[in-house]
Amino acid sequence: MATRVKPVAPEHLGERAADLFGERFGTVPDGVWIAPGRANLIGEHIDYTGAKTMPFALPYATAVAVRVHSHDRLRVASTAYEDVWEGAVSEVEPGHPNGWPAYVAGVPWAMTYHDTIARMPGLDIAVHSSVPEGAGLSSSAALESAVALAIAELFGAATDDAGRRTLARDCVTAENIVAGAATGGMDQSVALRARQGRVMLLDCSSFAVEYLSLDLAAAGLALLVINTNAPHRLVDGGYALRRSTVERVWSGIGRAAVSEGTDIDEVLRRAAVDDPMLTGALRHVLTEIRRVDAVAALLRAGELAAIGSHLTASHASLRDDLVVSSVELDCAVAAALAAGALGARMIGGGFGGSVLALVRLDHIGLTLESVRRAAHDAGLPEPDFLHATPSGAARRVC
Ligand code: ADP
Ligand code: MG
Repeated sequence: MATRVKPVAPEHLGERAADLFGERFGTVPDGVWIAPGRANLIGEHIDYTGAKTMPFALPYATAVAVRVHSHDRLRVASTAYEDVWEGAVSEVEPGHPNGWPAYVAGVPWAMTYHDTIARMPGLDIAVHSSVPEGAGLSSSAALESAVALAIAELFGAATDDAGRRTLARDCVTAENIVAGAATGGMDQSVALRARQGRVMLLDCSSFAVEYLSLDLAAAGLALLVINTNAPHRLVDGGYALRRSTVERVWSGIGRAAVSEGTDIDEVLRRAAVDDPMLTGALRHVLTEIRRVDAVAALLRAGELAAIGSHLTASHASLRDDLVVSSVELDCAVAAALAAGALGARMIGGGFGGSVLALVRLDHIGLTLESVRRAAHDAGLPEPDFLHATPSGAARRVC
């Protein structure tokens, strides 16, 4: 029988991070902060065009135990990795350190670069997370955001909504410049600004947010994350290629092209893009923007069950027009729908990662079993199932 991975309570995540801190650094941290991973209800591969997306925080999070000191040293440990990374504060720069420590050390570097804090401090940081890495649930932004909030609070930088917007910007700089990975700001905005029980209608050009209620249980529904355990591979170039394709077609078209009532086929004709890959990318962006608007209207009207068909249409668009799905994702979506899910789609950058399915509460067991069996029969990795109740943003836990 397939099971769902239960979220670990924030205080327990925090305890593990504090324990690791004691083991590795032989002292106690100044405090422990957590930040959540995220799922995106709808609006995929359009964040970096500046369009609106609809993400929410997951009840899975990353905890960081942090101590500030006056030496020119950074020490970083994680329960996910064996070695402690240690280096001079003054040596952190674009591309250094390499690998996972960049997602930690890059944050104080970016906060200093943007003058959010006056100077780069000496820090010891221990990390523990329940967000699966590389599953399209944004473990990278969860990690950066927990570190950013910790430093902001320890140094008296603003942490109200405007302050959190600034921190999200700093985290993007850390990931783009120090870690060298393409990210647009949606994930960090969720980790730092999400609200429990709400999805964010996030304008990815102004980063203004409208919070929309998503009371699934009251409607007899649940959202389920299916981690296919086929990691998305951002560094392999598939994501970057699609992203640059979308950016290229979009820069030739612009936001004005999708005002209400415009005929999408007409826009495609006018764009006169003769490469099928570019046409597909453009069609995906144009139709996905429409789907976000449609889902927002349904949520405002309290018609939760009706959003399912838009989720499924989004998957078809990502699979057929943008071509960023995978065998594992398609298999999970098809099996969830076959078991009676109201809608299902891949989330995140694609080429692996996770699926989000909207299911009736009394169908959860059936859906889990159907998806697990389909993966097994196709010789694919066994998926994990996660709860997807909209949760709160980054905060201090002890
Ligand atoms: P995603 O954000 O979708 O999970 P990314 O490739 O953007 O995938 O980010 C994953 C990377 O973030 C990992 O490869 C690692 O470098 C870093 N990371 C995430 N969680 C942790 C953790 N708990 N400990 C150390 N590094 C982590
Ligand atoms: Mg990421």
